[in-house]
Amino acid sequence: MDCLFCKIISGEIPSSKVYEDEWVYSFKDINPQTPVHILAIPKEHICCIDEVNSSNSSYVARIFEAIPKIAAEAGLTNGYRVISNCGDDACQTVKHLHFHIMGGRKLPENMG
Ligand code: AMP
Ligand code: ZN
Repeated sequence: MDCLFCKIISGEIPSSKVYEDEWVYSFKDINPQTPVHILAIPKEHICCIDEVNSSNSSYVARIFEAIPKIAAEAGLTNGYRVISNCGDDACQTVKHLHFHIMGGRKLPENMG
């Protein structure tokens, strides 16, 4: 399968890893929109939130268990935002489920 984030997980494409466990891979976004901009992804290929179901939702749970650790390690002591774009209207560009962890400054209240 020709998936950029699967290639990042396998190491075929390099990334700046910040966290990894059996279920989750996390790395710095290559085009940061905030002072801290990290992505957290499941190690199984799931295209987006639309494809989450009872047989793969444990990956999502593991990601959300990892996020507080990733945020603390990144120094996000005053809060952060987690975003997952799903589909064209949300401008999802990489079709492998990912959660943006964003912070390091006060973020705008308006999200859309
Ligand atoms: P989305 O638009 O929600 O699909 O987000 C995809 C994100 O992946 C964007 O923020 C990109 O900057 C990021 N991205 C694309 N290619 C890479 C890469 N090789 N390494 C790290 N982040 C990437
Ligand atoms: Zn993938």
